[in-house]
Amino acid sequence: MCGPENPGAASRNDQPRSLQNLCRQFTRGVSLTRSASGRVLLSMAFNVDLHVHSLASGDSDAGPEDLVLQAIETGLHGIAFTEHYSYEASEPAELLAEKYKGKIVVLRGTEVSAKDGHCLVFGVDTDRLLSLYMPMAEVVAIVNRHGGVVIPSHPYRGVNSIGDTLKTMKGICALEGYNGCNAHAFNVRAIETAAALRLPFTGGSDAHDYMDVGLCYTSFAEPVTRENLVERLKSGNYRGIDTRKISRFPFF
Ligand SMILES: [Zn+2]
Ligand SMILES: [Zn+2]
Repeated sequence: MCGPENPGAASRNDQPRSLQNLCRQFTRGVSLTRSASGRVLLSMAFNVDLHVHSLASGDSDAGPEDLVLQAIETGLHGIAFTEHYSYEASEPAELLAEKYKGKIVVLRGTEVSAKDGHCLVFGVDTDRLLSLYMPMAEVVAIVNRHGGVVIPSHPYRGVNSIGDTLKTMKGICALEGYNGCNAHAFNVRAIETAAALRLPFTGGSDAHDYMDVGLCYTSFAEPVTRENLVERLKSGNYRGIDTRKISRFPFF
């Protein structure tokens, strides 16, 4: 099953209280620590930035190794390279995963450009399975059939975003709730929608600069490895976190 049990639907009328309650529910049993770089992290959790772009994406200046080093400095347990369009583009992550084994888990996915918006895909080689600008519903069907997962990224940014179409789409694993490049209001809408659809929500920095790594991340209740990433994402046992100062939630 994909998604937590009954996370509670939030209506637009009673937020932010309902959002606060929702977030408290996801953070029960964890406490806060501050990393060497000053970033607040949830302890007793496994924290992964699930959305990062290196220069291989074509719109980022960040070298892959600089991104990994920043993730370590920030105190994250994992980082996922999600280059635009291509799984092959994140090939350098293979070497980095080996080089920094024991310090951080280096993961790979793709940020797919579907016809109706961007989505993060994990667990499959998207280059073999998908073509550019396919309808997202087709992306979901193909990826699910091959054992992967699809998470619409920044679903309410307005550009390159699926928007309310996702409400009728079957088979989505989660929504990206906290995107580090988004205005807060877009993220709030994504989290409200995730709650209404009984879906979990992730967090990712969408970093295009190494300094942005970890601004948002996903806090998993259990350790994540390259082998169990898809299983963990399907479990729903995680939540997105926003460390940016614009967050209105009481613990940040
Ligand atoms: Zn995107
Ligand atoms: Zn992105």
